[in-house]
Amino acid sequence: MNFKKPRGTEDLFGNKVNEYVAISTIIRDVMSKYNFDEIMTPVFESTDLFKRGVGDTTDIVQKEMYVFEDRKNRSMALRPEGTAPVIRAVVENKLAQPENLPLKLFYIGKYYRYERPQIGRNREFNQCGVEVFGKKSPEADSEIITLAISLLRNMGFQTNDLSVELNYLISGVSKTKYVSELKNSLKKIKDLCDDCSSRIETNVLRVLDCKVDQDKLKNVPTMNDFMSEDDKTWLNSLVKILGLIDISVNLNPRLVRGLDYYTGMVFEIKSTDKTLASQSTLCGGGRYDNLLKQLGGPDISGLGFGMGIERILLDLEAKKIQLASEKALDAYIVGLTPKAKQFSTMLLMMLRSEGLIADFDYQDRNMKSVFKQSERLNSKNVIIIGESELKENVVVIKNQQTKKETKVSYGDIIKTIRGN
Ligand code: ATP
Ligand code: MG
Repeated sequence: MNFKKPRGTEDLFGNKVNEYVAISTIIRDVMSKYNFDEIMTPVFESTDLFKRGVGDTTDIVQKEMYVFEDRKNRSMALRPEGTAPVIRAVVENKLAQPENLPLKLFYIGKYYRYERPQIGRNREFNQCGVEVFGKKSPEADSEIITLAISLLRNMGFQTNDLSVELNYLISGVSKTKYVSELKNSLKKIKDLCDDCSSRIETNVLRVLDCKVDQDKLKNVPTMNDFMSEDDKTWLNSLVKILGLIDISVNLNPRLVRGLDYYTGMVFEIKSTDKTLASQSTLCGGGRYDNLLKQLGGPDISGLGFGMGIERILLDLEAKKIQLASEKALDAYIVGLTPKAKQFSTMLLMMLRSEGLIADFDYQDRNMKSVFKQSERLNSKNVIIIGESELKENVVVIKNQQTKKETKVSYGDIIKTIRGN
């Protein structure tokens, strides 16, 4: 029987694992500079958490969730996104105490969505993201956009590789007015797609970012015209703060994002590289005022973003940017006799405890292929030990770059290897 990995998943090995580890290191590094703490939550949660947290009418909940019953018939879901689980953990563990605010958390992990697999769109994928809880302010909004840009810049993206789209989702009276005008205008458009037709009643703002009907939506009223003075001031100060740190944004009044919970600022960062075509959105996020309360927590505003790691790695690969350094050994030991092999294990232990990267051959290869192997493993030195070396208490160290061989006494092995 030949088993195959499930569709839309990936086996990571070789250099792909190294790239994944390297990007995680960059993420943890940048996050710590911004004073964010890491949080890890389970990969499955009760299905209701996502229904309430992400929204019953979203694609994620309606079409994309992996749902299963556990052995006690409780409905569970593999997490499709990071915000609801983090909020659940914050509420359950009472992390949002006044003295902890602003609470700044980040996560890196695997997420699951039943989607049609394409380049940059998997069923199991890796995301990093942040959630911040505390006072609502344009400075907090700008901090997470800055953080997202910093992450990408540290990974190797240049300013003009990225475009930032920003919108401000209106609320209160302005939203009520806008929603009613939008509905009227949408009802006049013929042949909207099925999703849009049903969303007019369930969640009309989502029609704005329908990927199918964009052309038909050119003349519908935009949110801008309905913004309150406060909303405008907020958006202007956000754009200004970002400008001060050299981040230019495109205001996009159609940007609403696929999740229901956003109120206020929302943003997306896209790659300007065309390689990924429709999967060019690397990062998306925004502010949510009510989610913490809605999930049983205190009435504290929050905001966050999620960033797709596979899409970033694909983009970097297209730009020929490598994050992981080439694998290399400091030393590869060749023991020519059984005794020399025994001695090799001791020497290996010593090299490794000195912090050197070392290995040896226990496949019983012949001399020629042992040297080939040391090249394949990119070893800087080959240490050769035979009967005569054992007698003389020395080893032969071959510098693979200069091809020079030197006899070295035991006390000088580390020094010689470090020097080569
Ligand atoms: P899209 O519109 O591309 O489906 P989304 O709005 O559903 O994205 P979010 O829920 O905001 O995505 O997730 C944040 C980021 O996670 C996305 O910008 C993307 O980079 C990444 N992402 C989302 N879904 C997938 C997936 N199925 N495979 C790989 N990466 C994904
Ligand atoms: Mg999606």
